[in-house]
Amino acid sequence: MMDTEMDMSVGSSIPVDNVLMGDPNNHASPPTNSKFKHEDADDDSENAHDMLRILRSEDNDRDSPNSSMTSASLISGLPESKSSGANQASRKKTSLPNAESPLQRSKMVAKFRAKSSIPTKLPPTEYGRQCVAAAYASRLNPYALHEDEHHLLQERLCHLHVTVYLNIRNGILRLWARNPNVSVNLEEAIGCAKDERWTQLACFAYEWLVRGGYINFGCVEVPLSVKSTRGRRNESGGQTIVVIGGGMAGLGCARQLTSVFNHFPDHTPPRVVVLEGRGRIGGRIYSHPLTSKVSEDLALHQRPTAEMGAHIIVGFEHGNPLDTIVRGQLALDCHSLRDLSTLYDTDGSAVDEHQDTMVERLYNDVLDRSGQYRYKRQKPRTAMGEKEMIDSGRDATEDDGLTISQYEEATASGTIDLLLPAKSRRRGVGHKAAKQDKPSEQVDTDMDTQTQLPAATAAKEIGFHLKSTTRLDESLDLDRLAASPNASLGDLLDEGVTQYTRFLELRPKAMRLLNWHFANLEYANAANVKRLSLSGWDQDSGNEFEGEHAQIIGGYQQVPRALWRFPDKLDVRTNQPVSQIRYDPGDPGGRATVTCEDGTVIEADKVVITVPLGVLKQQSIQFHPPLPQWKQAAISRLGFGLLNKIVLVFDQPFWDVDRDMFGLLREPRCGSGFAQDDYRAGRGQFYLFWNCIETSGLPVLIALMAGDSAHEAETKSDHDLVSSCLAQLRKVFGESSVPTPSETIVTRWASDRFARGTYSFVAAEAEPQDYDTLARSLGNLYFAGEATCGSHPATVHGAYLSGLRAASDILESIIGPISLPNRLVVETKSSNGNSVDLSAVVTPVTAPKRKGDPVIPAGTFTRPVKEPTSSLQQDWDAAMWDYIYGAIGFAPPQPSKSGTNPFLLYQKEHWNACKERCDSKKRTPAGKVNAKAGRDEVRMELGRMWKLLSDEEKAPYVERTRTHKDANDDAIMAWKAACVEWDKRTWEVKDEWIKQGNAFEEWVSKRNGGGVDCGTLQGGKRYRAAL
Ligand SMILES: Cc1cc2nc3c(=O)[nH]c(=O)nc-3n(C[C@H](O)[C@H](O)[C@H](O)COP(=O)(O)OP(=O)(O)OC[C@H]3O[C@@H](n4cnc5c(N)ncnc54)[C@H](O)[C@@H]3O)c2cc1C
Repeated sequence: MMDTEMDMSVGSSIPVDNVLMGDPNNHASPPTNSKFKHEDADDDSENAHDMLRILRSEDNDRDSPNSSMTSASLISGLPESKSSGANQASRKKTSLPNAESPLQRSKMVAKFRAKSSIPTKLPPTEYGRQCVAAAYASRLNPYALHEDEHHLLQERLCHLHVTVYLNIRNGILRLWARNPNVSVNLEEAIGCAKDERWTQLACFAYEWLVRGGYINFGCVEVPLSVKSTRGRRNESGGQTIVVIGGGMAGLGCARQLTSVFNHFPDHTPPRVVVLEGRGRIGGRIYSHPLTSKVSEDLALHQRPTAEMGAHIIVGFEHGNPLDTIVRGQLALDCHSLRDLSTLYDTDGSAVDEHQDTMVERLYNDVLDRSGQYRYKRQKPRTAMGEKEMIDSGRDATEDDGLTISQYEEATASGTIDLLLPAKSRRRGVGHKAAKQDKPSEQVDTDMDTQTQLPAATAAKEIGFHLKSTTRLDESLDLDRLAASPNASLGDLLDEGVTQYTRFLELRPKAMRLLNWHFANLEYANAANVKRLSLSGWDQDSGNEFEGEHAQIIGGYQQVPRALWRFPDKLDVRTNQPVSQIRYDPGDPGGRATVTCEDGTVIEADKVVITVPLGVLKQQSIQFHPPLPQWKQAAISRLGFGLLNKIVLVFDQPFWDVDRDMFGLLREPRCGSGFAQDDYRAGRGQFYLFWNCIETSGLPVLIALMAGDSAHEAETKSDHDLVSSCLAQLRKVFGESSVPTPSETIVTRWASDRFARGTYSFVAAEAEPQDYDTLARSLGNLYFAGEATCGSHPATVHGAYLSGLRAASDILESIIGPISLPNRLVVETKSSNGNSVDLSAVVTPVTAPKRKGDPVIPAGTFTRPVKEPTSSLQQDWDAAMWDYIYGAIGFAPPQPSKSGTNPFLLYQKEHWNACKERCDSKKRTPAGKVNAKAGRDEVRMELGRMWKLLSDEEKAPYVERTRTHKDANDDAIMAWKAACVEWDKRTWEVKDEWIKQGNAFEEWVSKRNGGGVDCGTLQGGKRYRAAL
């Protein structure tokens, strides 16, 4: 039973469409409007179970692991585009009834309450702890701004308010982490601010988190934000986005694009179409159904499958987005993996634990020594909040008028002491610069420390007997080899092992053991270590998640399936291999055309390509224009490796079923077994077996073929491979104990035309930024997929994160960057204590650059917003706004601010003179006529000059800043009043316009020459009802 084609016979299933098209109320759509839903911590388990039942009972979308030869014969189970309709229906269902209710209307002038999301009964330290944990769980440093946050906030936020901001941001993440079955809404986010002054900060934090996919991602329903009382101009016009590839990156991106626009109801959500070449979704996640046996161990709704591709979730803790999806939203059953139990030698005997440990330590020693040749990436420095305050859930509320960048500038120039009163300096309030943008203060595991000991001493400490001629201070000399161009990790490791044999005797058994670890490294990197970059092979180190590794019971594929269908079905079209992409490299707003092999052509505004790097290398998709040289070079430099598996299904287990894996040492393929070269070709063959009883419910073993053996498997027959695998097992467990398997499957990922390998690796010739280069978009062509995620490459979660990133980039290209209000911290007191009327504090619409540009109100989330409308409604809106702008012009522009920092005024005034002096000082000693002083030198000098000024000399500057501050305040007040007036006028003008016979129905009727399109009008009626 070696033929994978046999496995294509389909088992019983609930037809997908019956499940999907049944009662729409049945699917998991959690309550959305309950203010305290996150606090209640109801985990909506009924919905989760419904979801599960559906996910696990589907099995009519099967193909072989090497689907290219079989996919055509498979039923896709995915109807063409019914889903977009379902999508719309569900969207309306969630928003319209509310929108028409008096309650909804009363919410139009939204009252949001500070503190409402902070449980009063929770001690602040416990609240702080939960917030910190939630930030870590989102891959964010709870104590420091993300690089992007820093960039956006540095000119607007007082450096002392970083703590407040982080508290709010972490608080929003806490809400999400506590119940990711329900999306966090703006109202709840604002409730994370402890005071109404911070409302705008909360709005910013919320928008930033939403855009970046830190909250409200995955299989969660994001209801439309509150409906507006009137239309808004809509320039995005419902774009079409084609996502190529239905793996984790493609589905993650498509899912995010369909939900994230619900936060921005002023923009029509795009139509998202996923084109998948295979007859199934999931890509390199594929849980192949096992058909030879029925499982009695699995729950009724689970099915026996074996993982052909991704198998393991490498830790849920510390930021894995799969934690949210797999455990938080889908509540899938997982099996936590236990450590490797036994290594068996070639004669079948178990390897002595002591020897095993000694050799493993030697292997680690050599690997650590290679670490000193690693390329170290400089992490950007970002502003930090006060750790103690954040830990104890408290805000630092002082304001010294210095923004983050002013503070940094003054610190860099050594003039900070002059700017801040001694009191606040002494207290040490304020931000420091974060060393790195990592989700914690943990430091990279620094391998260099291990290399302090001379190699001979290290070996002795490990327990090896040194040769009698060896001195303890003898060490390895790897520098010369490391300096040679494109030296690989494998070159260095081999050399390290060889040099170690100068000091100690490494017999074949030790060599077999050593090479077992090499094989394991080759599994992790999907390549022979000789192909790995010495400086960058583990460039993602430090980003690892924590917690036990796990497998999903019933199959990993439940995850991509869930992304496809919850909360509503994505428009995924299978059996649509794409052959050509026309894109506009110069214009993110340009047009694109995607052509499939069957001749189908789809016009698109944007294209996201998520095909594996192996497919890009193969150049089976034509790009017009061709990809630029820099992109092509990165594609060819980065490695795309291979791992293959043999699945063996037995009637009865003959191995220790309480262990999840066991290992086999391999004979050398050539030589006497004393040299590294002897092992290279064969060390990866069946070096590890997974016991899959827990996840498949059947006695299943999966044997891995890593390194060169993975490539060998592509050309050998199933019969040869399975026979030699069984021969190895029989050596260990005895001839009679290992029967002929009832079912076998061999993967050949390199032959799979939709993969051409398994996952990416940093090849010897790769450059440090290659992953980022692969991720860079080209006009309206975006890139996602595991090979575009430098922080988590070669993984399922990395693929998913890359999809979120692409969605975020597309969102920004459609609606523009986050637009910050002039003042992030508003001094306002409302009539009722701690509640604030946002319509009063929000900066109104800023004047657009030109008519027709997207109008992005500052603090988009804080405006009452409307649901997506039909194109008629959009046109009606547009006509209304044309009239309004024609009558009263655009909103008053925000006034510019004059400087409020005395030193900066002084600096500006004296810069040229001071620079001249600094330049000439440089020229004199060096005798160089063109020598110039650097900016920092000039700043330092100005700082010194300022320090020497007397109070009287400083007084005029201090006085001017006071005057400026007053003038700024007056200008802002006047501007706000003008905005309020302008806003009022828009209502009046609108009423005039409507009275002129432009109520929606009248306008539609006029436009249609008297006739009314009833279908559209229905939408219009709903819309009018809420006006
Ligand atoms: C054997 C193996 C073991 C692995 N083990 C693990 C593990 O234990 N843990 C882990 O985290 N990760 C593991 N991975 C890696 C993980 O599976 C991938 O990183 C991840 O699934 C990649 O997702 P993706 O969306 O980037 O690409 P894919 O899942 O490959 O999705 C790309 C999609 O594009 C489609 N496509 C290709 N060409 C075309 C075309 N011309 N037109 C249309 N569609 C096309 C493909 O069919 C595919 O569905 C493993 C991978 C393999 C193969």
